[in-house]
Parts: sequence; C-alpha cells; structure tokens
Amino acid sequence: MSALRPADRIGILGGGQLGRMLALAAARLGLDVVIFDPDPDCPAGRVAAQLVCAPYEDLAAVARFAASVQAVTFEFENVPVASAREAARHAPLRPGAQALETAQDRVTEKTFLNAHGAQTVAFRPVASAQDARDAMVALGAPAILKTRRFGYDGKGQAVVRSADEAAAAFERFQSRPAILEAFAPFRRELSIVAARGADGAVRAYPVSENRHADGILRESFAPARISAFAAAEADRIARAILDALDYVGVIAVELFELEDGSLRVNEIAPRVHNTGHWTMDACAACQFEQHVRAVAGWPLGDPSALRSARMINLIGSEAGDWPRWLAEPGANLHLYGKREAREGRKMGHVTLTGPLSRG
Ligand code: AMP
Repeated sequence: MSALRPADRIGILGGGQLGRMLALAAARLGLDVVIFDPDPDCPAGRVAAQLVCAPYEDLAAVARFAASVQAVTFEFENVPVASAREAARHAPLRPGAQALETAQDRVTEKTFLNAHGAQTVAFRPVASAQDARDAMVALGAPAILKTRRFGYDGKGQAVVRSADEAAAAFERFQSRPAILEAFAPFRRELSIVAARGADGAVRAYPVSENRHADGILRESFAPARISAFAAAEADRIARAILDALDYVGVIAVELFELEDGSLRVNEIAPRVHNTGHWTMDACAACQFEQHVRAVAGWPLGDPSALRSARMINLIGSEAGDWPRWLAEPGANLHLYGKREAREGRKMGHVTLTGPLSRG
C-alpha cells in the first residue's frame, strides 16, 4: 500500500486516553483522526476530527468507518477480532488482526511467545476446578490464576497458595477459561516499547522500570538501570515478536527481571502503552508519533532518550492534585479529560525529567 499523505485520515478503534494522545500526535503531523467508540463523551473523541459512536460489535458501522479513512488502528486490545477483520476489508489495519488475537488470550499469547524465543513463566491452561488443582500441583505454590481473556489492570487475577485456593479462585471467576501461572520471583518489572514500520524497520525505546500496585501501573522510570546484557536481551525479544507477527505499529512487551538478571515476558500489548508515556517528554519522537508514523507507512522516528524520566500515573482522586503539579517547576502534566475520577481509573500522568546518566 502507498503511504498516507498529509490531511489523510487514520481511523482508531477505541477512544480512551491512548486514542486521545494518538490523535494529538497525528494532528501535529498533519493527519486527521476518526475515533470509533460507543461513548459520545470519550476522551479521544473530543480532540479528533470526527467521532463515530457505535458498539464495537456493529460490523456495518465498522465497515463504514473503515471505508472513510486511509488506515485503521486500535488503542485497546479487546477490540472484537471480527470487527478488526471487517475493518481490514476496507482499509489497511495496522497492526493486523493476528496481533490482536494473540494478545487477547493469555494461553495463546504465552504459547506464541515461547515458540518465538521469548521465555515466559511456566503455565497451564485451566478449564475446570480439577484442572486448577492439577495445575497447582504441577507448578507449585505460589501461583497466579488469571482469566484467559479480558483481564486488565490486575482484574480477574488471584494469587493462590494451595490446590483448594486455586479451585476456589477458578469458581470465583465464574468458571471462565483461565490460566495458572507460576509466580515470577522478580527483582524488577521492566518493559520495552518498540515499533516496526511498514518497511520492516524496527526501532526500540530504552527499557523502562515499572512499579505496579494492585495490578495497576503507578510509576515508570527510564532509561532503566539495567545491564547492557539485559537491555540487549529486551531488544532481541521485542524484535523477535515484531517480526513473527509481521507487525506494523508500536508494541509494548512487559518483562519480569529475575534475580539472576534473566528476563521473562509477562505479556504483550499490541498498542501504545502506559509504560511508554515518558517518551512524550524525554524522547526525540514519542511512542504516539512513532505509532502514527508506522500506521501512515512513513519512516519511523528517532526513539533515543534525550533525558531520563520518571512518569507518575494520576489514578482516581490523585488527579485532584493537578493544581499542585501545575505549580511544580519542570513537571509535565498530562490530563485525559475524564469527567469522573472513579477509583482505579487512570485520569492523567506527570513526567519529571532529569539529565541522562551515561553509564
Ligand atoms: P498482568 O495483568 O498480567 O500484567 O499482571 C499485573 C501485575 O501482576 C504484573 O505487572 C505483576 O506485578 C503481577 N503479576 C502478574 N503475573 C505475575 C506472575 N506470574 N508472577 C509474579 N507477578 C505477577
């Protein structure tokens, strides 16, 4: 496909904060964004050239939307695969439906990763309470039971320490298909955000260190203070995944760093990612610009860090601190325009930057 031209339109399935920041980056590059989201008041719709409001499952609406743009992408991984495939019949879909399908199911995802040289923790699919018990015996305690699909920000997960606990957690999750994962005794959580262009070129951002609480990202720090070996390994893993999926766009790979310095992939997100927000204030070309470039079929930008960065999420009522952050010298405040500060909801973030320490 030929590349997009300035004033062309990119369609984005999903209108949350990621869509909003993508739309702003696209606007700066002279591209218009059309957002598809069922919520007429969604954060991205209010900064986009156009908002199409319909359920994600409405294939006719998806078809009309895709036919009205020159390329389609998505900002969340739970877009129904049938809708993504419908969009792809009318415009290039970047990344493709295979990336979505792989990331939507934790068992498919881990099986794919292991097949492409990216190690994960040991795991077992769980389809019954008895499976949960057997998997617990096989993997040992502690372990984590997660629903295979539709988990995010730590939802649908339970740490379990015995076969009884594993079976009870499975039943608590309404006996939905699940996965039991060995608990990773990690030293740190890391992630690498990387992009692959339509020409197959890959550019990776420096690795970031991430701190979660209750399954929700609280803070990222980048570039991570890791060995050159670990950085190279993260880069290798990201490239292997991008190439295996013939991927176009930005991807995030969440990693556990174990005590011996080796890495295990936790999960992949086939989209721009919260652990890459720091790139907006510290890199030559941020993750949102990078994704827009890739989707447009344009050359990728420079992912180098110009500064070190600490990104702090503003979750729920923490967003009420915005006047304090505005008054903080050097703090870069980003608010997503959400009207209701519900508990656990990502309302905005702040990035503090500093000099780049040279190893
Ligand atoms: P996830 O939704 O899979 O990204 O998990 C959310 C968070 O739970 C991760 O960022 C980790 O802090 C923790 N976690 C998830 N899976 C594991 C695991 N297998 N071992 C240890 N911690 C985990």
